[in-house]
Amino acid sequence: MTIGVVGGGQLGRMLALAGYPLGLEFLFLDPARDSPAGQIAPCLSGALDDRNLLRRLAERCEVLTFDWENVPASSLAGLSRATRIAPPPRALKDSQDRLLEKKLFDRLGIPTTRYAAVDSRADLLRAIQRIGLPGVLKTRRLGYDGKGQAVLRSAADVDRAGATIGAPSLYEEWVPFDFEVSILGARARRGEVVVYPLNGNVHVDGILRLTRAPFGTTGLQRRADAHLRRMLDYFRYVGVLNIEFFVRNGRLIANETAPRVHNSGHWTIEGAKTSQFENHLRAICGLPLGPTAARGHCAMINLIGNLPDTATLLAIPGAHLHDYGKRARPNRKLGHCTVVEASAMLRDRRARQVLNLVAPDVRISFRGAG
Ligand code: AMP
Repeated sequence: MTIGVVGGGQLGRMLALAGYPLGLEFLFLDPARDSPAGQIAPCLSGALDDRNLLRRLAERCEVLTFDWENVPASSLAGLSRATRIAPPPRALKDSQDRLLEKKLFDRLGIPTTRYAAVDSRADLLRAIQRIGLPGVLKTRRLGYDGKGQAVLRSAADVDRAGATIGAPSLYEEWVPFDFEVSILGARARRGEVVVYPLNGNVHVDGILRLTRAPFGTTGLQRRADAHLRRMLDYFRYVGVLNIEFFVRNGRLIANETAPRVHNSGHWTIEGAKTSQFENHLRAICGLPLGPTAARGHCAMINLIGNLPDTATLLAIPGAHLHDYGKRARPNRKLGHCTVVEASAMLRDRRARQVLNLVAPDVRISFRGAG
């Protein structure tokens, strides 16, 4: 069976690596000639919204999926006669636009931050009056890893944020969270759902640095699990879905959702009975889903901006390296490292060793119940 994937980044590459043992074949579409997935699988070269290329991709695969959530949902929906598409383009559409995403959380009764749509300076002033300061102004579309965001702490920041308001935006309250978590699960075509243990995430400047799992209390896991299942069932979803939350005083506040495998689930490759990548493929191919239990106490550290010396990293006991084959650039995710240990204490010690090597100048807090 051939899986068509729109986008050939590291997520696509790890999907292919998980699919080869299952006998699956892959065909990617990506604008870069040396994309991470294109280095290990056939790849059509061109824009992700090129209708002719999308049609060619659809005609050559049994299932079409995506590794990037900004693929125009309308271009994908137009291909549903040529092939099966999973996850559903409807879920993609809602996650591409922060305003639709917030409304989705509201509709499903998933608590989220207070927010207001902002298209002008007057809108922003009204939003600040209603929601207060500090707050975050975010572009509705195409923001990721903290891009397209401005934190507003005082009235003086309003004009500085003006540059961001060039595009339709969203103003939301600043959440002084205790920690951040995310939850991932997969839904199969017949409605079967599996959910992974909660991830504890640490972002620095909007970019994920560290994930630890399993994380948090059983109560938190139970509530996040219920929110995720509601969204999976609402979309009659097929594949892996992620929701990120702030946690404040034990309360979950949804921040965003991604209709795809997610960076905070990379630990599942070595650390869970079935990885998020394999379960995504199982779901979209109509295969039974695999168990999601953790094999131990896991940590995933992103390798950002530059890669450490391989031998030095691998000299840390239990360290697993994933090099995405990307060229180094500041703030670019080039790879990740996973450790799986028998206790949370040993896991944290190993994670600190990795962080001291790969990001000695970045302060990373290990607070929260891991
Ligand atoms: P996002 O692109 O919305 O996922 O934001 C990236 C990161 O910025 C989040 O994971 C948080 O660490 C931080 N952040 C974003 N929005 C808020 C907010 N309203 N309050 C506090 N921190 C935020």
